[in-house]
Amino acid sequence: MSNQNTFSTDVDTIVGKADAAYRAWSRASRNERASVLRNVADALDSQKEALIATAQAETNLAAARLSGEFFRTTFQLRVFADVIEEGSFLDARIDHQDPDWPMGARPDLRRTNQGVGPVIVYAASNFPFAFSVAGGDTASALAAGASVILKAHAGHPELSRQTAAVIVQALAEAGAPEGLFTLIEGREEGLQVLRDPRIKAGSFTGSIPGGRALFDVANSRDEPIPFFGELGSINPSFVTQAASGIRAVEIADGFRASFTGSSGQICTKPGVLLVPRDSQIIEELRESDFTDGQQMLNDRIHSGYTEVLNELSTHPAVTVLAQGSDPLGNAPSPTLLMTSLDSLIESRDELFKECFGPTALIGAYSNEHELVRFAEAIDGQLTATVLGEEQDSIVPELVDALREKAGRILWNQWPTGVSVTDAQQHGGPYPATTAPSTTSVGTAAIYRFQRPVAFQGFPQGLLPDELVDTPHQDLTRRVNGKLA
Ligand code: NAP
Repeated sequence: MSNQNTFSTDVDTIVGKADAAYRAWSRASRNERASVLRNVADALDSQKEALIATAQAETNLAAARLSGEFFRTTFQLRVFADVIEEGSFLDARIDHQDPDWPMGARPDLRRTNQGVGPVIVYAASNFPFAFSVAGGDTASALAAGASVILKAHAGHPELSRQTAAVIVQALAEAGAPEGLFTLIEGREEGLQVLRDPRIKAGSFTGSIPGGRALFDVANSRDEPIPFFGELGSINPSFVTQAASGIRAVEIADGFRASFTGSSGQICTKPGVLLVPRDSQIIEELRESDFTDGQQMLNDRIHSGYTEVLNELSTHPAVTVLAQGSDPLGNAPSPTLLMTSLDSLIESRDELFKECFGPTALIGAYSNEHELVRFAEAIDGQLTATVLGEEQDSIVPELVDALREKAGRILWNQWPTGVSVTDAQQHGGPYPATTAPSTTSVGTAAIYRFQRPVAFQGFPQGLLPDELVDTPHQDLTRRVNGKLA
């Protein structure tokens, strides 16, 4: 595989081509766009083995995990192809001219969503397929009608080049405009692209400092642009008194599997578990067998992890509940820390922080009402989990508080594993994301890369297909206030 066409340091040329490609792409028919996305998925499938082998060598992730993630990646592309064909993402609305409109005569108005323009996507380190070069942001941006400049993550450079080469070739074979997708590498190149006035949006998955820095760049441009950053989350899980009494072993097992999976390098890892002070769950977790560790994604993530683990475990309000033999080693074995819910609230800044790796903190409470107090005290989260019984009197109040804080609330399930569906929400108030009204997973992710435009008084021949009276391609529209 060659990467000749995918890497260049000439940012000006790359952005120029992405800009021209956007104009052609956003006006291509929906059928054409869907077929191009399917072509990319097929091309990736044809290179599956080689790509997974490179990913394994560069990320230390297990083959089974990478294989599942690979499937998710091509699934996403195909799902977005279906979304394009179905057409409701355009949210097409037609209001015919009406001299009797109650607020005064109205003109003929027709509104649709179009691609926002060329965008920059920052690949994540921890999902080298599904949140990287061919990941959800690329799929949703292309589906929306945007062109994509992809800033590779330095954690898997060869995989990024190989994946980009497959995409570029598949796009060319499908007749997509040149420059529709380009890979760039290097922090400075990423910044240059983000500052370029032709770029109209950015998206990102990674750390709070990194995402915040880039969000600030996007907003301090002469023309500020939307920046969809998915940053950090602790994903607290709340166990009620009743659930702890009935299902202690099940909850301990589920939690252990969820926080240690992929060596804890997952943005939805349940980082804090709140349990009653006398809960059997604590005893179950104390007996955990944490002998096996797994090498982490890269040195930067490993050193970030050990630094935060050191800070947490040396805090005066924290004790070690269970730990493997080599918690700080190259392949760190998991660690479970313990504190009280009161300390978690009092020392929130030091204790309630993302520890990106196989560590979690247990917060013991003495009164269930403290759960609501805690939920009200925390920052925005991607997820919050309630492990309870339906008749628990605390649950409605707790869920009400969590609705204000989290993008996804789970009932008796664990937050790792984020399905790609129409109803998925992967987002949340800051610092979980910089754009809480959007999602980065699921088909609703397409709306991030669109911009509405209304046409007033236009003749049929000058309107986009979805707004003419009899469109060539079927879709659901709101016509004079009614879905049609
Ligand atoms: P990161 O450090 O935020 O980097 C992500 C991307 O942003 C990289 O391409 C990086 O470029 C770029 N970047 C970061 N800071 C920048 C700045 N100030 N200016 C310009 N570009 C910048 O994330 P990471 O390397 O993936 O992991 C570091 C930590 O992020 C982890 O330890 C973890 O805490 C967190 N993380 C969170 C999630 C999540 O989903 N919430 C996912 C992954 C990681 P360069 O690589 O070129 O420097």
